[in-house]
Amino acid sequence: MSILTLPTPLLRRLVLVPSEAQPTRAWLRTALSLHADTSEWLARGLVLMPPATAAPREPIFGVTFVTEPPTQAVAHTTEAARPPTAVGHLYLGVEQMRGRLWGVTWPNEQVEPLASLKVAGPGLHTIPLAPLSSKETSDPDGLSLDRWSRTIGALGSAAVWQRLVNLHIALVGCGRTGSLIAVALARLGLRHLTLIDPDRLELHNLGEMDAVVEGDLGRPKVDALAPYLIAAAPAGHLTVQAVARPITDPDAVRAAKRADVLIACVDNDTARLAMGIIATLYHKPLLDIGTGVLRQPGSGVGTPSIVSQPSGLPPRTMGADLRLILPGQGCILCVGGLGQYGPAVNELMHRRPTPPPAQEWHQQRAGSLRSLNTLASGLALQMLNDLVAERLTASTWARLEVDAIGHLTTAYPVLEPPTAPTCPLCGRAGLGDNGLGWG
Ligand SMILES: [Zn+2]
Repeated sequence: MSILTLPTPLLRRLVLVPSEAQPTRAWLRTALSLHADTSEWLARGLVLMPPATAAPREPIFGVTFVTEPPTQAVAHTTEAARPPTAVGHLYLGVEQMRGRLWGVTWPNEQVEPLASLKVAGPGLHTIPLAPLSSKETSDPDGLSLDRWSRTIGALGSAAVWQRLVNLHIALVGCGRTGSLIAVALARLGLRHLTLIDPDRLELHNLGEMDAVVEGDLGRPKVDALAPYLIAAAPAGHLTVQAVARPITDPDAVRAAKRADVLIACVDNDTARLAMGIIATLYHKPLLDIGTGVLRQPGSGVGTPSIVSQPSGLPPRTMGADLRLILPGQGCILCVGGLGQYGPAVNELMHRRPTPPPAQEWHQQRAGSLRSLNTLASGLALQMLNDLVAERLTASTWARLEVDAIGHLTTAYPVLEPPTAPTCPLCGRAGLGDNGLGWG
């Protein structure tokens, strides 16, 4: 096994080379320290030279700055072109590969991967290096990244994609909007997904849900979705835990606690409040999505004038509230609030279902549209992308509204904590605007 040890100042100097104006060749002067089963190469200095200059006449590591993971073929090309004094080569990722490292040495005229990089300095980090792949590009599991090359390009770096897909996400509510989110996460390359929903698939779900077919009728939604999601991901890549229980059930709470991020696509405030409590207690970022198509004039977010309804159609307005709530930055109660807070507390405390509303669902709600659910799930996933990429750094509430003539507005209500009283759930000073309208 071979390792390379670099003092921190030398590593710092090395990573700055690509930002320098003049193109140079970079070499690390090295010395060898032999242990029982390890060859430890000690980097002793950085040599920078104009491109055409001959390599130093001492043991050196070549350095190449790469924007793609190097393959074995690349290493063999490097070997063929290496100067006589080169004993190894280091590949440092830049741009979308920033933060990634690979290395090879050439003992006995064979290309051998460098096992790790030791940083001799604060933190005493030992960084295991990824092996070179025989494929053109691969992630650490050896999967081709070509599948996600466009996603990685749009996210800005492979590191962001890696962080995203390594998150364990618990998705609570696997119906119309939840199924869209689940399929998108499976195709994105997520590795660990927990699905929580007690409901069984009914005929009226088939019009808007994704990834289910008539043969699934009567099955728990989570059990119907899981095999489709696993098939949508590369073989063996995605594990799905299906929990056909309500989020208030101890099994579901245990499953949610294990996740890194909670996504709520639930259709009632009792489940939403339970999610808010779990997120607050266990420091989980919570992405809450609520959509609604209502038989009433809109609130006119972003459109102060009341738009008249087209003749011959009942009144309609529709929209969605998306809330990304970060630990320590409010909770479900003080970031937007709950429309049915009192009944939700009552139901959670006494395990008594809230009495059905006086009006039938179709008198209040006009149904569900995949177009609206897709808009909401798309913006929610974008919030998740931007959270992982550190573009989005604060709790955020987005409200989508489609007016009577089909114009979409997006508003981001300001989340300023007003004065007292303190939030009863997260302790944040002041209760937020209790103005949540959708879902
Ligand atoms: Zn709160």
